[in-house]
Amino acid sequence: MKLKHILATALFAAFTLKAGAQQSTGLKVWNNKQCAVVLTYDDAIDVDLDTVLPALDSLQLTGTFYLIGSSSVVNKRLDEWRAAAKRGHELGNHALFHPCDGSLPGRGFVTPDNDLSKYTVSRAVNEIRINNTLLKAIDGKTVRTFAYPCGDLKIGDTYFYDGLKNDFAGARGVTAALQTAAEVDLTNIDCYPIMDKTADYMIDLVKKAQQTHTLLVFLFHGVGGGHSINESLSAHSQLLHYLKAHEKEIWISPMVDVAENIKAYQQEHK
Ligand SMILES: [Zn+2]
Repeated sequence: MKLKHILATALFAAFTLKAGAQQSTGLKVWNNKQCAVVLTYDDAIDVDLDTVLPALDSLQLTGTFYLIGSSSVVNKRLDEWRAAAKRGHELGNHALFHPCDGSLPGRGFVTPDNDLSKYTVSRAVNEIRINNTLLKAIDGKTVRTFAYPCGDLKIGDTYFYDGLKNDFAGARGVTAALQTAAEVDLTNIDCYPIMDKTADYMIDLVKKAQQTHTLLVFLFHGVGGGHSINESLSAHSQLLHYLKAHEKEIWISPMVDVAENIKAYQQEHK
């Protein structure tokens, strides 16, 4: 009887120790919150400055804006991008000319000048580095993240980001999935591209991330107009308000901070 009791106690202790270890691991990541949510906005469009940034700032939320260096909206509104970075938003790198692979189906919009399939790998790497120099001149930062234009990872058989791993904290792709900190591939971070979705769809994704202690990255283009890939102003606003109401449980931060958190976690748990 006594032996049985000792065994049961030992088993229980082993079980709680294991559960405790899992819990402490779960809590270490995501800035000690349930999950991380990253709001990203691509292509350096006027709507970012006119609509999105005021909405984020009004709730003291921060996001990542992936800038195309050659965009006229970067040139014309340099001071506003600089001010956004000062308020805590990340200016991410979306390449100098946004080259996409024109050899893929449905890529009629790709011009000969900006056809990634005609690039050499070193040209892609060099242009992205020049865009980093431009962004550094705007915000003074030396660490940021990259987002693949059109989600294209390769030139021929070569992953061009292999030449850029040391230039960035991470790179955002376009595959829709929720991942734990252990699962995230920092060279191709998953995200949910958003177009004409309901607020419920987006908020359900956040709830799923909270339940599964995973990373959820949203990818927006237009918000209330400004781009052919558009999300309504009201659905976007409802998402922001849900995030704000749950900011004690959800870590809402620019991609660069989350990528560095994941990197530290992965190094610690090798
Ligand atoms: Zn883009």
